[in-house]
Amino acid sequence: MDARLGVLPETDVLVRDTTIAAVGKRLPAPADAIVVDAAGALLLPGFVNTHQHMWQAAFRGVGADWTIGEYLEWILMKWRPLFRPEDIYAANYASMVESVDSGVTTVMDFSHGLRTPEHADAAVDALFAVPGRARFGYSNAFSPDLSWVYDGRVDQMLTSRFASSDQLVTMQIAFDIFVNTGDARQALRFAIDRNLPFSTHAGVLGFVGDDNITFLEENGVLSPSTTLIHAATLSDDSYRRIAASGAQLSLSAESELNAGQGYPPTAKARQFGIPISLSQDTVVWWSGDMFSAMRATLNADRGLAHLRAHEAGHALSTNELRAKDVLEYATIGGARVLGLDNIIGSITPGKRADLVMMRTDTPAMTAASNPAGHLVFQAQRGDIDTVLVNVRVLKHRGALIGVDARRARRLVEQSLEYLRSRIPNEDWQRALA
Ligand SMILES: [Zn+2]
Repeated sequence: MDARLGVLPETDVLVRDTTIAAVGKRLPAPADAIVVDAAGALLLPGFVNTHQHMWQAAFRGVGADWTIGEYLEWILMKWRPLFRPEDIYAANYASMVESVDSGVTTVMDFSHGLRTPEHADAAVDALFAVPGRARFGYSNAFSPDLSWVYDGRVDQMLTSRFASSDQLVTMQIAFDIFVNTGDARQALRFAIDRNLPFSTHAGVLGFVGDDNITFLEENGVLSPSTTLIHAATLSDDSYRRIAASGAQLSLSAESELNAGQGYPPTAKARQFGIPISLSQDTVVWWSGDMFSAMRATLNADRGLAHLRAHEAGHALSTNELRAKDVLEYATIGGARVLGLDNIIGSITPGKRADLVMMRTDTPAMTAASNPAGHLVFQAQRGDIDTVLVNVRVLKHRGALIGVDARRARRLVEQSLEYLRSRIPNEDWQRALA
């Protein structure tokens, strides 16, 4: 994923402290170096997931057959108010563990289940409790009056928990503007004044459209540190203005295709030159790995291109979007979206050692002559041998190390038991029907 280095066969990576010191053949290593034998394996930078509502992990799979309307009704309107701080903690902890397990070394938590300051503290505690890299996206879901802008609680969190920019967990603002009010302007000003990146769901059919892009532009937050999630169902004029501003996209193809926010706009983004990253959205439908996200993205883009060609009476001879492009979206593209591409996203000397090593001796990975194609269409999380975050080994020979998956399971099971006790049985049956 380093454009200058490209794909290198039979190559060593030397890591010193937390940083990649050198990439090359037969590198001399200090006598006391720990050597990880990666012969025959594929080494890639850790995946970056640029949008996940981590607090929803206890409801994993419950919405497999839902559309976005059903998700809004059950999760956001009916069940979100039931969450206690410990439910947020359990889900965030489990989501961090799942991320590390699936080679997602950096994940952005769009945390819109925060009802009180204690909920926010619990969310952050969980992100810090697992040694992966994360971005906490503070959201205003339960403060429609935006009191958080004025009451100092977010500033307090910034100084107490996020004083250093050189830590595994960093913070940004993440919220949705479904109504353009003066208060929303104050919230955007809050992010700008503190130089915090900003993420928002954009281009969602029936919720946010071109007006929203205009609103963001007029209020000075359409910029390279803005992430627009989904960004489907927008006019060419909006895409043109997004491209001119340097704002970037977080596309969740599985989400857009199943829930119905709009068609994944990969073709439009390429047409207008808008940078793309990939995201998973929520485990209420899909698992938290980026292999599925990469496949869904490629399938959606190519499927539409073929359909359009067939409707026009011809067949495509070349697929425009390549496996390597999608692998870039899932790694360096995500690092750019989070403003972390100077430290992660590629195996480049000087960057932090966030690395994923894939086995090539499993049945699906045997004869891996096309590395990018293999990673996108053949690989799955069971093929991950080793995961490093900031040089620390969190998974090796397929087993998690120093990451407590048993605790994650116990916490989520207890949380689900509590949440289920508060949900009327007929609601639960109807939601799962
Ligand atoms: Zn989302």
